[in-house]
Amino acid sequence: MQTQAAPTPAAPHDHHDCIDKAIHTAEQLCMHRGARFTPIRRKVLELIWESHRAVKAYDLLDRIKPYEQAAKPVTIYRALEFLVEQGLIHRVESLNAFIGCVCSDRRHELLLLICRHCHEVEERPAVAVMAALAEEMQQAGFSVHRKAIEIHGLCAHCVAGAAPGSAGVPPAQPA
Ligand SMILES: [Zn+2]
Ligand SMILES: [Zn+2]
Ligand SMILES: [Zn+2]
Repeated sequence: MQTQAAPTPAAPHDHHDCIDKAIHTAEQLCMHRGARFTPIRRKVLELIWESHRAVKAYDLLDRIKPYEQAAKPVTIYRALEFLVEQGLIHRVESLNAFIGCVCSDRRHELLLLICRHCHEVEERPAVAVMAALAEEMQQAGFSVHRKAIEIHGLCAHCVAGAAPGSAGVPPAQPA
């Protein structure tokens, strides 16, 4: 079983594999932990995994309506809370949105690369960066509660001018 780096979201890949893996991992983890992976929680996770783009809670509410007509904002928030607690999704603070975690089966810190053009978010392990940061925090005598680094920019695909589902990065507008 290969455990190495997940595929780069921006690179062409079979996204069905990502979804299957995410749902399968969620089922296994919840079963192991005795956590209830209810149909609504599963549906919210599936909707988040529709792409590698970060999704806002109110977009999820719209998307879940066809499946769960009675869904209310609180339904979504509770499901999101559960999925975050279980480490199946991450909150992207700077976007106030959520992405599916690509390595929820192990404890990890967050380095998120957020593309401002295609809005895909890539999660990277960045072990060396985190080790350096931990050392810095230790020197500062700072007790860290939550550590996540969110970096905004353009993903490799958009830099190359071929964003998936778009005509590429628009050229700069002449003044
Ligand atoms: Zn994918
Ligand atoms: Zn993760
Ligand atoms: Zn991009």
